[in-house]
Amino acid sequence: MSYKTDIEIAREAQKRPIQEVGERLGISSDDLLPYGHDKAKVSQRFIDSVQDRPNGKLILVTAINPTPAGEGKTTTTVGLGDGLNRIGKKAMICIREASLGPNFGMKGGAAGGGYAQVVPMEDMNLHFTGDFHAITSAHSLLSAMIDNHIYWGNEQEIDIRRVQWRRVVDMNDRALRQINVSLGGVANGFPREGGFDITVASEVMAILCLAKDLKDLEKRLGDMIVAYRRDRTPVYCRDIKAEGAMTVLLKDAMQPNLVQTLENNPAFVHGGPFANIAHGCNSVIATQTALKVADFVVTEAGFGADLGAEKFMNIKCRKAGLAPDCVVLVATVRAMKMNGGVAKADLGAENVDAVRQGCANLGRHIGNLKSFGVPVVVAINHFVTDTDAEIDAVKEYVKTQGSEAILSRHWELGSEGSADLATRVAEIAESGVSQFAPIYKDDLSFMEKIERIAKSIYRADEVLADKKIRDQLKLWEEQGYGHLPVCMAKTQYSFSTDPNLRGAPTGHSVPVREVRLSAGAGFVVVVCGEIMTMPGLPRRPAAETICLNDAGQIEGLF
Ligand code: ADP
Ligand code: MG
Repeated sequence: MSYKTDIEIAREAQKRPIQEVGERLGISSDDLLPYGHDKAKVSQRFIDSVQDRPNGKLILVTAINPTPAGEGKTTTTVGLGDGLNRIGKKAMICIREASLGPNFGMKGGAAGGGYAQVVPMEDMNLHFTGDFHAITSAHSLLSAMIDNHIYWGNEQEIDIRRVQWRRVVDMNDRALRQINVSLGGVANGFPREGGFDITVASEVMAILCLAKDLKDLEKRLGDMIVAYRRDRTPVYCRDIKAEGAMTVLLKDAMQPNLVQTLENNPAFVHGGPFANIAHGCNSVIATQTALKVADFVVTEAGFGADLGAEKFMNIKCRKAGLAPDCVVLVATVRAMKMNGGVAKADLGAENVDAVRQGCANLGRHIGNLKSFGVPVVVAINHFVTDTDAEIDAVKEYVKTQGSEAILSRHWELGSEGSADLATRVAEIAESGVSQFAPIYKDDLSFMEKIERIAKSIYRADEVLADKKIRDQLKLWEEQGYGHLPVCMAKTQYSFSTDPNLRGAPTGHSVPVREVRLSAGAGFVVVVCGEIMTMPGLPRRPAAETICLNDAGQIEGLF
């Protein structure tokens, strides 16, 4: 049997006018700012008007450590949202916007897959409503103003060797990672080293996703550290006087984007911070607004649960006062098999023993998530090649871990395939059993916070950090940043810092290579291992085969 591609399915979507989708949430067309017929931003006036309402139930979708076999967090988020609507619940989903650049490198969109997708998927993966372009512009404005400040006399006494603020562009362009700027003589300023990151790695993105409102956004932008003086005192964005103009550029980008699933159910798609040097989930403003207009909100955190869910709970929920009512941990039979030692080419053949052996990774995530006080349901994201015996092996294993696994066939069948999962998740979320709490308190030292995560989530024996790093963390504590959470940046492929260590490793150490203060976003980034903030394109970038066909449709993007 052959299956349609994601783009073929998306093209057949019977979309409803976006006003109709908004109406179901009680958002009148006056409060929707349409971008074409199938996308709209929600007005701040509407968001202000719903603040006093009670919150709906919050459901987090996360996953085991990713393998090349694919897990399908977004697909499951969309499928579960549609499933909840199918069983009569008023539900919506909240996911991240896609970064444009990576789509031209390797295939793979960000709008879900099969019969569990958000549309219009081409827009979502390209310019969408322009939010990321606005972030690039706001970031670039500050970059320009810093070099301009230096050029006109450098009143703030910025040490030009210590400018922290880099430049951004939403493109995978490795040639820009390290560059020299202001070359070409006196009229062009003072030559110095600089470099580009991809837009999603900008602190502006992290701030947009954590800010309560435009006032909070402006304050946080002002708080960003852009450079240091020779005496090592920080120069803030506020010293450069850029935060007001940046806020103007970001005014519309702050408003959540409303779109729909293939089954015409509402979805907010808003914000998209990196999941390594930032927290990797959609905006707080979208999640909070969704909780006011829907009874169930399904949202996704990037990477595996050791990074994505940990940050969702310890950073986003802590800072925004959110609490998940149920966590859905996505696993696939294929990923279990890969964890159990099967090569990617052999995933098609039944191998129950390998499934059993590969379950250790899943088990550890279940235990970790429970340590936040939240109930956990495992969603087996069904692939058509899975056999009954393999599925049963996963279910049996999960039972031994004190949780339950439910097969979900949303990719193949849409909400018809996810109704069982939705029924159980709704039951648990409504039961009120969740007793969520972050796993560390604000008043621990930074080293204690890092150790708490390394030991209880990664199950490492120790954290290795040299004196320079410990002193830096102490200095930030003395300067009044000690209450901030830490944002771990490590490989997504393993609990450890070694991407090849699959399963559930123990006895490893977590070496801290570098720490960075994101004073505006409000966390300290703890870099463990090689972290790339400007990706490159592969030898054969997807862009080579992307084109418009004779009907004006996009080919090759997904
Ligand atoms: P994640 O959010 O975890 O990165 P996605 O949900 O975006 O993963 O899925 C990644 C890719 O895998 C998509 O192209 C999607 O179509 C595909 N996929 C997801 N679930 C299934 C499934 N059950 N069967 C086949 N392909 C799937
Ligand atoms: Mg995803």
